[in-house]
Amino acid sequence: YCAATGTYHSLRAARPLPPPALPLSFPDFAFSLLPTPLPSHPALLDSSTGEVVLFPAFLSRVRALGAALRSQLGVSRDDVAFVLVPPSLHVPVLYYALMAVGAVVSPANPALTAGEISHLVALSNPALAFAVSGTAAKLPLGLRTVLLDSPTFLSFLQEPGDVSATETVVICQSDPAAILYSSGTTGRAKAVLLTHRNIVASTTMAAAAKMAAVVLLTVPMFHVYGFVFCLRAALAAQTLVLHTARRFDARAVLASVGRFRVTHIALAPPSVLAIVRAAEEDESATAGMATLQAVNCGGASIAPDLIRRFLHKFPGVCLSQGYGLTETSGFCRAIGLEESERIGSVGRLSWGAEAKIIDPTTRATLPPGVPGELLVRGPFVMKGYLEDKESTSAILDPEGWLRTGDVCSIDKDGFLFVVDRLKELIKYKGYQVAPAELEHLLQTHPDIVEAAVVPFPDDQAGELPLAFVVRRAGSNLSVEQIKGFVAKQVVHYKRIHHVLFVNTIPKNAGGKILRKDLVKLALHRSRSS
Ligand code: AMP
Repeated sequence: YCAATGTYHSLRAARPLPPPALPLSFPDFAFSLLPTPLPSHPALLDSSTGEVVLFPAFLSRVRALGAALRSQLGVSRDDVAFVLVPPSLHVPVLYYALMAVGAVVSPANPALTAGEISHLVALSNPALAFAVSGTAAKLPLGLRTVLLDSPTFLSFLQEPGDVSATETVVICQSDPAAILYSSGTTGRAKAVLLTHRNIVASTTMAAAAKMAAVVLLTVPMFHVYGFVFCLRAALAAQTLVLHTARRFDARAVLASVGRFRVTHIALAPPSVLAIVRAAEEDESATAGMATLQAVNCGGASIAPDLIRRFLHKFPGVCLSQGYGLTETSGFCRAIGLEESERIGSVGRLSWGAEAKIIDPTTRATLPPGVPGELLVRGPFVMKGYLEDKESTSAILDPEGWLRTGDVCSIDKDGFLFVVDRLKELIKYKGYQVAPAELEHLLQTHPDIVEAAVVPFPDDQAGELPLAFVVRRAGSNLSVEQIKGFVAKQVVHYKRIHHVLFVNTIPKNAGGKILRKDLVKLALHRSRSS
């Protein structure tokens, strides 16, 4: 901590990043770190089928697909490719191949409704899309779509093609590599533009953390958490085991650990809870887990008590909490044993990261131990929101400091604690639910005059969307009708779980909804009911 500037710096030994001016795509960077000869263990493994892709096959598929993208599909640099697919062994190959030819990968949740997808498509304006037979119908008409479960796609992976086609593209680290979606600190979903350098930075941090060799990924690859885990596995010469089952099944995950000698699992907090419950209910569920060394839990906060229950059931397994944002390419804190021993902390800053804790009102920097809004700066911070200067400048200042919208404190040893959230965001099992999106939707109902949506705490999901609704005078619109109205139009995790009727929505003099007051009111009403 530097008192003169009010800034925290990471003191971790840095694995130097390539100089920013060096032309270098993320895939070239990743492949340059692989040992020669290539590792003999699998690069990818499907936990449902046991099918594997070895490292030489992974690299040759990426090259073949990259060549096909250019020569057969006419993909050019900076073309955005919208990806709407369930997890499969093709996904990492597709991500790498698109980036290798200078295209921009834009993955989205295949469970979204067609209406939600059209909003994202309008933001990123893709040149083409990748889907599977089951998801293609949700894409807007007229968007050229390639099906991953078609013989054509399989032929793209196998053909040697014109491999030189990929080699002619010179990609700078400042070029766009990915567009993910996040509502940021306010409003509806925005397109977060990440560069090759952002991804180089966030994956290198992870690789430098000496991760285990067989990583089981249970979190979705369209969210920044799974996106980065999926990309970094190859660069760290790890085997990436993909949990391809449609639903998360704790027992199946535990069985996969034994079956595939998994050493590391990436989980979201509700999955940790499910695993702990499975282990508490049946001692035999944890048999065959000797290989497991570490669990990373990220995407949302995890209760310290749950960490303790986990450590009790899995002694010797290091559980570390991840913290990051889509806007910071996923990571802004380090993973390591020391971190995991401080229950409640999300660890220390990743190397290359700088942080400040500021008073949200006065914007003055605060000393160690005092909570305030966390600001971060580093090579992992997004370029900005695509075509949205106003939202970008609201979160990212000209000096490169990004407002996280989280209330945090950093202790004198540099450990970061996430205390609260300032921004308008609901986290359902790590998924983002933007209150503004639901408020907008509620207000399209003819019987709703006004609505405000806030998070309501829940043991299973972390937070649930709760709506305060002002009905039109004389209307007897019911709670169930409101829930049904929303449920028809949104993906399952954005559904409204509780509705409270009020006469007015409290606002400050500037017309901003007093969300904290509403959360307090909701808690008060639930206690007294
Ligand atoms: P996303 O962009 O979906 O990754 O969401 C980022 C937000 O998730 C952060 O700004 C936090 O509000 C929340 N979050 C992520 N990880 C944690 C954590 N370990 N503890 C508390 N909140 C978290």
